[in-house]
Amino acid sequence: MALEEYQRKRRFSETPEPEGKVESKSTHRFVVQKHRASHLHYDFRLELDGVLKSWAVPRGPSLDPADKRLAMEVEDHPVSYFDFEGNIPQGNYGAGSVMVWDVGTWQPLSSVQVEGKYVPASDEEARAMLAKGDLKFRLKGKRLNGDFALVKMKGRRPGSKGNEWLMIKKHDQHEVEDYNIDHYDSSVLSKRSMDEIAGDEGSREWNSSRPASRGKLKAAWLADAVAKFDQQKAAQRADGGKKSAKKSAPAKAVGKKTTETHKTASRSSSKEKKTLKRA
Ligand code: MN
Repeated sequence: MALEEYQRKRRFSETPEPEGKVESKSTHRFVVQKHRASHLHYDFRLELDGVLKSWAVPRGPSLDPADKRLAMEVEDHPVSYFDFEGNIPQGNYGAGSVMVWDVGTWQPLSSVQVEGKYVPASDEEARAMLAKGDLKFRLKGKRLNGDFALVKMKGRRPGSKGNEWLMIKKHDQHEVEDYNIDHYDSSVLSKRSMDEIAGDEGSREWNSSRPASRGKLKAAWLADAVAKFDQQKAAQRADGGKKSAKKSAPAKAVGKKTTETHKTASRSSSKEKKTLKRA
């Protein structure tokens, strides 16, 4: 199964990340997660065939076509990962802070141009382009927009795993010369900076920096994700970070671990953990 490697690498009793499953239906969402692990990088993920195809981009995506950004193909992630933001505890795979840096939708593009423009392609063509190592696509995000290519590097460097791709912005009206990703250190989900996320142990401290409104969210699925996020935070604040596992249970399917369940559990005794798990 497509998520075996993802699940093998993680201990879900310790990490707040979703265990997830291969979804039977796919839409075309994408997410970029800023990940401050042993090395800061950005994870670029495209929803296809019930999973998130994933690449770790050390310098992050760029809107400048002059930049060719190394993108290391990594294991498929569950679709439920797309709104994961929080802290992976020390000692776990990918330990560190994760920010939802951009979200939106994507569209595979045919390599055939019509009147100088790329035209939409089918999922079948997307699979073929991925297998071939030359995927063209269009992003419609809050920060990343326009046409891109992910191109697999053919010449293997000594010691490379053969998972090296380049992420390149195509020329269009969305290109930005000298694009500097460091200027955008905030979550599109919570507006928090990386430091705020990192310092957000039980979410109790996090209150003051939050704006009153996020503005209108056009995409319903994004609005849902934000609403869910707000609910969890509200429950945590109301409970002071305790007993929130019970309250949040209806928000997610039975058997799934919520972020706050984990966070609460990680600060509790093992006796309390058992209680929470039953709850
Ligand atoms: Mn990562």
